[in-house]
Parts: sequence; structure tokens; C-alpha cells
Amino acid sequence: MGIYPAPLEKLIRELSKLPGIGQKSATRVALYILKSDKGLAQSLAESLTKVKEEIRFCSRCFNFTDQDTCVICENGNRANGMLCVVEGPGDQLAIEESGVFKGRYHVLHGVLSPLDGVGPEDLKIGALLSRLENEGICEVILATNPTAEGEATASFLSKMLTDKSVKITRIALGVPMGGDLKYMDSMTLRHALKSRTLLLS
Ligand SMILES: [Zn+2]
Repeated sequence: MGIYPAPLEKLIRELSKLPGIGQKSATRVALYILKSDKGLAQSLAESLTKVKEEIRFCSRCFNFTDQDTCVICENGNRANGMLCVVEGPGDQLAIEESGVFKGRYHVLHGVLSPLDGVGPEDLKIGALLSRLENEGICEVILATNPTAEGEATASFLSKMLTDKSVKITRIALGVPMGGDLKYMDSMTLRHALKSRTLLLS
């Protein structure tokens, strides 16, 4: 038995199942919803249902969309020849928000992880190969995360694509902006040195 009435306890319990929301934050959000006018609760409930009913994966790049193909795939101004391969829709959004990349994306929906039983057939790799052939891709940027699984996936993809006539690049790994070398781990420094760029020769 909790200290709040049962419906409020249930709302707190449900909210605390969300990532990054602990018991305290869930209680704060639930009490806020309770004291706000009914419109907030109603529009929240509607948005939650709508997002589950209407959001699906783009049939081309597997990004989130509410249409058959997403706005990026539909945008004729994007550079067609460059394809940035990411693990999940969140990674695609982060790159898009940076505003630097103007090509197309391909979302793998995971990374290779033999221990968790995730193999190549569980990722959107077959669709990636079809896109290379059908869309005249000349560069594939492997932007999986710099984790053991992300690196293994990038390495797997680069080996698999060697016989295709496309340029394969990997996002640079190293020291973050505002970072301090003396606090970097040796793996990060090793990558930073390996990924160094030429300024003047
Ligand atoms: Zn798309």
C-alpha cells in the first residue's frame, strides 16, 4: 500500500518505468499532471496513443515517420550519393540536429552482438545492400557508436562492402570538444592519434 490514492500510485508506477525517470521524478510529474487542468492530461493521453498508432519506420531508411517514407528520403535537395549508417533513430536525429550532414541515412536498428544473439540477419543490412545498388550511393559513412559492438558492426560492414564500388568511411573517434587530454582514457587517446587529420605538410 502506498501513501497516495491507488490511481495516483499507478500513474507514478507507470511513469517510473520510463528511462531516466526514477521514483522521485515520477512522483513530481504525476503530482504536476494532477494539479494541472484536465486539458494537459487529455492531450498527453492522446499524444501517447497517437504516437503508438501512427509512427512507423520509413520503408527506405527505417527512420521514424508517419508516412510510408520519411521527410529526409522525400527531400529532393539531399545529396543522394552519401549514405550515413547509424544504429538507431536517436543517432540519426543527433546527426541531423548538428546540421552538418546533408546526405541520406540508413538506420540499422541495432548492432551485432553475438552474446545477445543479434546477428547480421537481425539488422537492416539486406535493405542497405539493396539501397547501394538502387540509389547510386558513392560513399557509405559508418556512424555506429564507438562501443565494442558498434566497432564490430562497422568492421563487419566495411568488409562486406569491399567488393562494392563505394567509398567506405568511418566517423572520427577521439577527444571531445572542450575535453582535457590528461583526463582522457588511453583507448580514446589511441583513437584520437589514429584519426588525426593533416593540417599542413
Ligand atoms: Zn527515410
